[in-house]
Amino acid sequence: MNRLIFLVDMNAFFISCEMAKNPKLKGKPAAVAGDPKKRSGIIFAANYEARKFGVRTTMVLHEAKKLCPELITVPPNRELYEKKSKEVMDILSRYTPVIQQNSIDEAWMDLTGCEKLFGSPVEIAENIMGTISRELDLWCSIGISENKFLAKMGSELKKPRGITELYVKDIKEKLWPLPVREMYGIGKQTEQKLMDYAIYKIGDIACSNVEFLKSNFGKYGEELYRLSRGIDNSPVVPNPLYDSKSISRSTTLPQDTNDLEYIKNVLMGLAEEVGYEARKSGYKGKTVSITIKYEDFTVVTRQKTVTPTYLTKDIYTNALRLFEANKNKNKLIRLLGLGLSNLETDELEQISIFDLVEGKNNTKKEETIEKTIDRIRERFGDKKIVRGSMLKNSKGI
Ligand SMILES: [Mg+2]
Repeated sequence: MNRLIFLVDMNAFFISCEMAKNPKLKGKPAAVAGDPKKRSGIIFAANYEARKFGVRTTMVLHEAKKLCPELITVPPNRELYEKKSKEVMDILSRYTPVIQQNSIDEAWMDLTGCEKLFGSPVEIAENIMGTISRELDLWCSIGISENKFLAKMGSELKKPRGITELYVKDIKEKLWPLPVREMYGIGKQTEQKLMDYAIYKIGDIACSNVEFLKSNFGKYGEELYRLSRGIDNSPVVPNPLYDSKSISRSTTLPQDTNDLEYIKNVLMGLAEEVGYEARKSGYKGKTVSITIKYEDFTVVTRQKTVTPTYLTKDIYTNALRLFEANKNKNKLIRLLGLGLSNLETDELEQISIFDLVEGKNNTKKEETIEKTIDRIRERFGDKKIVRGSMLKNSKGI
């Protein structure tokens, strides 16, 4: 049976939340922006009135003001966007429990089999869009397809307030004429490399030789080929709930040990999983904690406050410090746990790509790198990317 997958993407989300809260902003060019006193303040989200003047996300504020002198700016309000995001997800969950939030302002829904309950795909989409608008005074675009990739691509085709069906049978006409940069997942580097091979449009990828793509882009080339042909079997994986505001992992060791090198590997593995989960859900944590259970079943839990992070490297470094400061050398360890808590939404994550391009900010750079690793991991499974430090020490026990 064909699946029915939606991607619901909120339109100009941050500034729309501000407009819903303060209707005086409606109909006027407005944007959420960094501190206007600093020349470096940038636009985080512009409404459609402001976009008409050419104001864009990541634009420096004084540049935006030049284009649109009457631009009204409001400072970012993280709590508000987080709350509204949750309200949107609550509405979506009335239609299906199978929802995978992709970022603060978008989510996939698996509605396979729901037509009988709610009507045709377009009717369901209209219903969702109407409910969100009525209850939250926010607008969205919805892509409808039989898989996640095409649903995402469909949602991008018509904004704002668009409902777009994009099935495999439509891709020659609707997807293939688009430039490769518009393909979900393609970054600047891949775009450049494709163009070096005279591959300009998504259709050019689809009509390339898959062996050629594989030899130049590795497994990713094969993935690009498959997606360009509208093939994506990845499931909609519901996100875990973050009501508890923490992400944690633990593992019982194959045998009790106090071998530090081995323990470092275990902590790195746990940090990888926790960091991955945090980045995927767009949360950074302010507290890193470890749990050590010894051979005699006594348990020690320790935590420390850190600069909000979802980077594997930071989580690991802090966990290791906690471990070294608190371990009992005389006992063997039976179980290790690692947690990240005091989570907050990484509201400005879209900026990271910009910073990488500009080469401005090392943390942003690392965040982008780790997210790229995550993408590759999602495509090819867990084992493909292993950190150098894990390889060096993978002696097992
Ligand atoms: Mg979005």
